[in-house]
Amino acid sequence: MNHHARTRVPESIDIIGAGIAGTWQALLFAQAGCKVTLHERGDASMTESTGHWAGGMLAPFCESEAAEPLITRLGLRSLDLWRGALPETPFNGSLVVSHPRDRADFERFARLAEGHRRVDGGAIADLEPDLAGRFHDGLYFAQEGHVDPRHVLPALHEKLRAAGVPIEFKSAAGPDDFDGAVIDCRGIAARDTCPTLRGVKGEIVTVETAEIALSRPVRLIHPRWSLYVVPRANNRFLIGATTIESEDTGVSVRSALELLTAAYSIHPAFGEARIVAFGAALRPAFPDNLPRIVAGNRTVTVNGLYRHGFLLAPALAEVTVAHVMGERTDAEVVRCA
Ligand SMILES: Cc1cc2nc3c(=O)[nH]c(=O)nc-3n(C[C@H](O)[C@H](O)[C@H](O)COP(=O)(O)OP(=O)(O)OC[C@H]3O[C@@H](n4cnc5c(N)ncnc54)[C@H](O)[C@@H]3O)c2cc1C
Repeated sequence: MNHHARTRVPESIDIIGAGIAGTWQALLFAQAGCKVTLHERGDASMTESTGHWAGGMLAPFCESEAAEPLITRLGLRSLDLWRGALPETPFNGSLVVSHPRDRADFERFARLAEGHRRVDGGAIADLEPDLAGRFHDGLYFAQEGHVDPRHVLPALHEKLRAAGVPIEFKSAAGPDDFDGAVIDCRGIAARDTCPTLRGVKGEIVTVETAEIALSRPVRLIHPRWSLYVVPRANNRFLIGATTIESEDTGVSVRSALELLTAAYSIHPAFGEARIVAFGAALRPAFPDNLPRIVAGNRTVTVNGLYRHGFLLAPALAEVTVAHVMGERTDAEVVRCA
């Protein structure tokens, strides 16, 4: 009875932005019994979202090397929510390897990141047969997963439609366009209301080869960037990603060289791979690179997912729903406008 007394279900909610943040908000508000409409300025291909270019790794432990404990906490919760919503999500873990010259950085990573066990050359070969003989030691993060953003966004949109949530594509909107409750998930486009938001460029290359197969993301310790190869369907691999304080979305020759060299150094078969596409996108970030849920009277802004949008979106949606319903407020992420 008390529970019902405290719960305030808004009659209807308009969510702006059908990227990974807005999509999870729509899903969990609909599950909570609200009448939800999702508005997206782009079309169903979602090429205008940052997520279109993302690695899609669900890696709360690997990220704990460089990110705050908040990212690990929300990320771990998200893994369960992903499992619940899309049970076919692969949780094959992540593998971190390094070349001998980067040994010191590898040991540093091992010390700072939680949730792994050390693996020798034999264990690496068991996990990834095509890497047999190439690395003598690595770190295996057994609990981590990965999704292909270009598949999971349409899959989640389909789930929304099945739940009766309309998605209005080609429908640009602003928080003031509605009379009722609004969740603003416009990503980097929300700078009109979030002046401290900035874009942090990430560049990637997609390649195709049948000469090598991987079952999980493989990260290579690199002195400057967190570089990785993520396997995709149809013999494709995403090689990512740079992290550059720039808001242009071109791919530089230097970045292309670094990304391709990293993949080639993981396995020479990548030297023969066909380049499918280069791409870049801006990660929406606040000055502290932490996500924020800013709760105003009518509008709640969910933004700053930075390099963790796929990892954090489910847990952030859960926190937002609990706050809006008046059930509880996670003071580490929710701020008052
Ligand atoms: C190279 C790269 C690799 C990455 N790898 C990973 C990874 O491995 N794991 C991970 O968790 N994260 C990763 N990320 C981060 C992740 O992509 C972002 O954190 C995430 O996409 C942010 O999601 P979002 O929904 O906030 O923004 P977006 O994905 O940009 O979505 C916002 C949406 O709002 C729409 N919109 C904007 N304005 C309006 C308007 N006025 N009306 C209606 N709609 C509007 C946009 O068109 C867009 O579709 C990576 C990012 C990059 C660039």
